[in-house]
Amino acid sequence: MINLPHCLMLSWRSVLLLIMIILIVKGVKTDKLEDPGGLNICKHPASFGQMCILCGESLDEESGVTFGYIHKGLRLGNDEIVRLRSKNLLQNKKLYLVLDLDHTLLNSIELMHLTTEEEYLKGQSDDDISNGSLFKLDFMHRMTKLRPFVRTFLEEASKMFEMYIYTMGDSAYALEMAKLLDPEGNYFSGRVISRDDGTRRHEKSLDVVLGQESAVVILDDTQDVWKKHKDNLIVIKRYHFFASSCRQFGHNCKSDETEVDGVLASVLRVVRRIHHIMFFDGGNLDFGSRDVRQVLNAVRKEVLHGCKIVFSRVFPTSKFQAGRDSSPVEDGRAIRSYLFKRN
Ligand SMILES: [Mg+2]
Ligand SMILES: [Zn+2]
Repeated sequence: MINLPHCLMLSWRSVLLLIMIILIVKGVKTDKLEDPGGLNICKHPASFGQMCILCGESLDEESGVTFGYIHKGLRLGNDEIVRLRSKNLLQNKKLYLVLDLDHTLLNSIELMHLTTEEEYLKGQSDDDISNGSLFKLDFMHRMTKLRPFVRTFLEEASKMFEMYIYTMGDSAYALEMAKLLDPEGNYFSGRVISRDDGTRRHEKSLDVVLGQESAVVILDDTQDVWKKHKDNLIVIKRYHFFASSCRQFGHNCKSDETEVDGVLASVLRVVRRIHHIMFFDGGNLDFGSRDVRQVLNAVRKEVLHGCKIVFSRVFPTSKFQAGRDSSPVEDGRAIRSYLFKRN
């Protein structure tokens, strides 16, 4: 085994931070060059321990927002957040997708809450993280079942969206679940937000997401936590695999969802449609002036008019099934005329 000097053994988080700092410094240098007054005033783009990473000045705790999920103790200044958000994913025909964990992408319970009838599941857990769906995590005293179709969903959605995990669980749990969902780190690298990172208690907010609100779609089974961002939200039907999870919400669940006709397969069709309307149905309209919240609202309005798109809680119904083979172009016709009247 080769013994690397300790200083060379950078964790991926350090590498990410390094890249971020380089991007930040590069941006500030550009700002200075473009400053007509020639005043080299530092804008304090980021700080650690209340000290600007660029000029070393000691900063007010109040300035900026903490981005602990990128690196512990990192705070970004408000101007820098705006600059990073302006990174135009839209030109690459990509939006942002913020995904809740529990009851949205998976179902976890504590081992002690397994019913007697479920005890056998302990012996059925998968060792292969890349392909498995049922996991016994002894060190966390939990069992986790991934929602059917989730791997395909993430793979397909990643072609249209830059994706975040955003959970009310703690950071250790969030990172462990991210490993199960994304063992190669292809989808969420550096974008796993937990309750430890939020700016408000008992509430989720896009404050800590580095994407402009007009381009963010949220998928969550809990509507109440997104008080400020309901227009960005698709509320998904809750996923329950374990009996105690079901009972907690007053249900009696009988069977697991299926891989092909489950809820996530339906949601994939909906987000595909949203992506399609956003980028391919607007004629010559500039991408920058489009707003995904308008698309979502228009799609909701279509539901009220008895359209095929099931929306307020996305789940397969006979209506939706009937529309599953129709093209996004057909389904989006009414929405298109509502949204892009200018064309
Ligand atoms: Mg949830
Ligand atoms: Zn500074």
